[in-house]
Amino acid sequence: MFGACYFEENMKINSINTANYKTVLAPVSKGQAGEISLLRTSDIPNLPHSKNLFIFAHPDDETLFGVISSLIDRGESTQTVYATSGDQGQDKRGLVSKGAQLAKVREDELIEAAKQLKYNRSPLMLNLKDGDLSKPEVSDLLIRHITNIIEKVKPEVVYTFGDDGITGHPDHITTGNITLRAVKAYNTSHPQAKIKLYQVAIDNDDARLLKNVMGIYTNAWDSLKPVSPDKVQKTYLTTGNTGRMLSAIAKYPTQFDENEKRGFSFFFRVAPVNKYATPLQGGIYA
Ligand SMILES: [Zn+2]
Repeated sequence: MFGACYFEENMKINSINTANYKTVLAPVSKGQAGEISLLRTSDIPNLPHSKNLFIFAHPDDETLFGVISSLIDRGESTQTVYATSGDQGQDKRGLVSKGAQLAKVREDELIEAAKQLKYNRSPLMLNLKDGDLSKPEVSDLLIRHITNIIEKVKPEVVYTFGDDGITGHPDHITTGNITLRAVKAYNTSHPQAKIKLYQVAIDNDDARLLKNVMGIYTNAWDSLKPVSPDKVQKTYLTTGNTGRMLSAIAKYPTQFDENEKRGFSFFFRVAPVNKYATPLQGGIYA
């Protein structure tokens, strides 16, 4: 989720049981049902069309893009892409060290969260180096991958971060900027395509509310990077499935401690996740 990777050094340690990894997804109304597994870059040439395409930096970034649960519940095909496995983050429980071990744990968490959100496409993991996305050699690779993914998926709508990165995390900002470049280039070379790009942001009012609510439980959410309401287009409001969002959050024991989970549970009761999750910054690029 968007803040977890940013504030992890402030977190307390908690232990949550890992889940059964063999659960099979129940079919959604119109989407593709099936067992969720993690796709790799070698799967890019075989990606099927998806109406929606989400480009994230880390596993857990999806948990507050509330719109994702709405789209899936409407039966819309929804492909997710993760630039990194978050291998340079921190296990808040203090159990797993950085690197390959943490990558594996966070990938497993992602699969479990994807089941909670009822993904109708298996998530695609690009496995670029966590924390290095802004380095030219890594960002070159990222834009190549995103371009190839767009060519295969042919999405109608792409969702990613804006300049604020919601938390200011450099990987979020880089992912958003590179996705914007890739969509612009695609639309220029495919004039009939007109892919819409939504850069998800949090506005000042919601950021204040989230800080106040979370502040009851933890100081980990003090550094959100909200955008002013006049920059946020309100036309894409939709209701996220807050129960599913909380279930997904609970599947990331390395990233969310008990205090954060209590905070989100409260926040979702007092604020609609739709406002929080769906506005875009800077308008639709089409
Ligand atoms: Zn993140």
